[in-house]
Amino acid sequence: MKFAIQSRNDEYSNELMDRAKTYLSDFGLEWNEQSPDIVISIGGDGTLLHAFHRYREQLSTVAFVGIHTGHLGFYADWKPSEIEKLVISIAKHQFEVIQYPLLEATINYRNTEEQSVYLALNESTIKSPDVTLVMDVELNDSHFERFRGDGLCMSTPSGSTAYNKALGGAVIHPSLEAMQLTEMASINNRVFRTVGAPLVLPAHHVCVLKPVKAPDFMVTIDHLQLLHKDVKSIQYRVAKEKVRFARFRPFPFWTRVHDSFIDSDV
Ligand code: NAD
Repeated sequence: MKFAIQSRNDEYSNELMDRAKTYLSDFGLEWNEQSPDIVISIGGDGTLLHAFHRYREQLSTVAFVGIHTGHLGFYADWKPSEIEKLVISIAKHQFEVIQYPLLEATINYRNTEEQSVYLALNESTIKSPDVTLVMDVELNDSHFERFRGDGLCMSTPSGSTAYNKALGGAVIHPSLEAMQLTEMASINNRVFRTVGAPLVLPAHHVCVLKPVKAPDFMVTIDHLQLLHKDVKSIQYRVAKEKVRFARFRPFPFWTRVHDSFIDSDV
């Protein structure tokens, strides 16, 4: 089995990376950053997001696992003190693989057939470089609403505990193939009206956002942020690709939600 390690690059994470690398090599595993079977992320959820995007072209063969060197993370749920246990389980193939849904974002531009296609593990957000974002929201080819406000966020189920939650979105179990649209400070009065509630869309639905005024947008894909100019439309749907996580022990999603947001001794 081939492995790679993504470190947050602080002193502690790098020290753990060196230890894990030595242990796994001693067990006869091959360090291979080009085509690993398993990627160990050491740092926080942000480190795992980096690892996900680094191996975005190999999602069908790579399994991810995260060790947290700060607080307990959603994706980084192993403690540094458990590293030996984790290494032995990897070496003995004592893990199963679970798959979570992803979000596909396709950006179309005016005056060109070229598209930008992205996969998000957590979410994609749209904001305007102007003060107010104004966009028409279409669901399955039908006009739904004209949104005015700070921005819109489309999240995956596993990303529902991240930015989505801060925007008042629901926490969604990642076994549900869905995506969730939440509003950022929508303008609602007698003139302007939006639904004012998060929308949970199933896998076969498509959401398209179309500019009403300026065609330039700040688009985030997880931790990545880019200004896209001359945008014609932004399409969201549940991706056909999935992310694979190596699971070594039961750590139910709702226990993770409890331990992350309510109380925990980890
Ligand atoms: P980061 O790594 O510092 O992450 C920010 C925080 O989000 C961390 O506490 C991290 O543990 C948490 N987080 C990330 N993914 C999570 C998940 N799936 N469930 C629960 N918590 C999660 O910063 P970054 O590297 O820039 O990470 C980008 C992420 O930050 C984005 O994907 C977005 O979800 C999140 N974010 C959140 C807010 C907010 O809550 N208001 C605002 C911007 C970005």
